[in-house]
Amino acid sequence: EAKALGRNRFRFFSAGMQDLVRARMSIGTGLRAAIEGDRFRVVYQPQYRLEAGRLVGAEALVRWHDPELGDVPPSRFIPAAEEAGLIVSINDIVMAKVLAQIALWRMRGLEPPRISINVAAQQLREPGFVEQLCRRLDERAVPAGAICLELTEGTLLADIEGTARMFERLGRHGIAVSIDDFGTGYSSLSYLTRLPVHELKVDQSFVQGIASEAGKRSIIVAIVDMAHALGIEVLAEGIETESQLAFLRERRCEMGQGYLFHRPLGVDDFEKLMV
Ligand code: C2E
Ligand code: MG
Ligand code: MG
Ligand code: MG
Repeated sequence: EAKALGRNRFRFFSAGMQDLVRARMSIGTGLRAAIEGDRFRVVYQPQYRLEAGRLVGAEALVRWHDPELGDVPPSRFIPAAEEAGLIVSINDIVMAKVLAQIALWRMRGLEPPRISINVAAQQLREPGFVEQLCRRLDERAVPAGAICLELTEGTLLADIEGTARMFERLGRHGIAVSIDDFGTGYSSLSYLTRLPVHELKVDQSFVQGIASEAGKRSIIVAIVDMAHALGIEVLAEGIETESQLAFLRERRCEMGQGYLFHRPLGVDDFEKLMV
């Protein structure tokens, strides 16, 4: 009986999985063409210091428009890119675009706030990553403090000693590191005492539960207090309402980003915020 059930279950899943595989394959093919054809663009979501309301940064977010698939959201193509082994190439393209943009702004006498760039742990492990990044910064006369690297916790923890060494080297060069989607990784928090990290980004799922879920409020409070005890600043993502903002301010969360302030902006709109 269990066997029959297993067989049915297998059939049930395999139909769905075929669709999934097909969708992933077309995304994979599209992504390769997009890499070749330079079809990515970068948008910038402003980040604010909550106390003073001052613009202090922006997160660079990749956008992809495919002639056949249309606008594909990152939530769909980033996982596909990871699976297809294309994430490093894409991040690399985004990095190059951001550095070129920062250089351009500076040449025009604008002062961009610190730009955070999403990076995969895989990328960090490539030999020569830090040297290459420093060389690129030098080539464009962009100071290290002009950028910050965002990494999600999951894959960092597989090799915590290696990660710690890498973060230390980045820190010595003046490049800040932020842990993205913090709180979603089901990992022990104690690893933070071993990693030189500058910022934690509280995942938006907690922020969006502020009004309705006491548990999520408690997690935010715990994250902020722990971060502060370790000398790490906190940035909340996905702030959409005034009451979320009020709660975060009261709990001494330093920074935030979200639709309440701005959606991710194209270069022209983002520039208007720089004065
Ligand atoms: P993330 O790094 O956590 O980025 C924040 C996401 O939340 C962005 O979605 C942003 O548009 C969205 N967001 C910001 N404020 C709000 C808000 O108030 N409410 C809601 N509901 N959402 C908000 P996006 O641009 O679709 O990116 C999704 C994810 O894709 C990112 O999550 C990141 O993990 C990944 N991603 C985006 N760009 C890159 C990239 O260049 N490289 C890599 N590796 N991943 C990227
Ligand atoms: Mg991010
Ligand atoms: Mg995030
Ligand atoms: Mg997130």
